Amino acid sequence: MKNDCTFCRIIHGLEHGAFIHQDELVVAFLDINQASPGHTLIVPRIHVPSWWELPDEEAAAVARVAKPIMQALRMTLEPDGINLVQNNGRAAGQVIFHVHMHVIPRWQGDRRFGRPPAYADRHTLDKRAAQLRAALHKIGCA
Ligand code: 5GP
Ligand code: ZN
Repeated sequence: MKNDCTFCRIIHGLEHGAFIHQDELVVAFLDINQASPGHTLIVPRIHVPSWWELPDEEAAAVARVAKPIMQALRMTLEPDGINLVQNNGRAAGQVIFHVHMHVIPRWQGDRRFGRPPAYADRHTLDKRAAQLRAALHKIGCA
């Protein structure tokens, strides 16, 4: 745990996160700036800045959970497509230096990656997270 890392603080319950999934290796919660409705972050529990530093086991866990999360997003929000986006380094657009994968639902004709993203209040995120948790539960990925 890195005390000044926002994602470490969310993972350890020191800051609010609208969680949709938690297991021993990774968690997933909604991005506070929703590039599109349902924009989710899959975040390994260990504090590692970049993907190239991530142990294989955690990298595999991110990929493993991406699939049911995408299915849950498709079930609840019916997007036309989904982007998986992963930024490493400031030059690549990384802002939070705790490795993570973006899962961004897309609709035909929407703004590219929804820029600028819309800040979502806690109530909206919590409600959306509850729907997604229910869908994940149905799939058998609680
Ligand atoms: P990056 O640009 O590093 O790949 O993405 C970092 C993401 O973290 C951004 O999309 C940003 O909106 C999100 N983010 C920053 N601070 C918080 C926070 O406190 N809570 C949540 N849920 N997301 C955050
Ligand atoms: Zn961290």
